Amino acid sequence: MSALSPRDQIAALLLLLALLALVAVITRRLAGAITQQSTNVLVRCREGHTFTTRWLPYATVTAMRLRARYDYCPVGRHWSLITQVQ
Ligand SMILES: [Zn+2]
Repeated sequence: MSALSPRDQIAALLLLLALLALVAVITRRLAGAITQQSTNVLVRCREGHTFTTRWLPYATVTAMRLRARYDYCPVGRHWSLITQVQ
């Protein structure tokens, strides 16, 4: 296999840059899609207070699986384990 000519090297470099730009666009699209999936959900703390909060589905695997997380309760003004109200 012969070495690439300077012109081919530039072409290859431009192709690489184009691919990087494409990956950047796709990554941004995916991030936007994930953000759109996060909605305000009704949650309840251990004290029984209910309030709505933003729930990021992919924030943590544990939160997604258990539908519970440790967060601040604005109603009782305390930290507690909160769970989603079905
Ligand atoms: Zn509370």
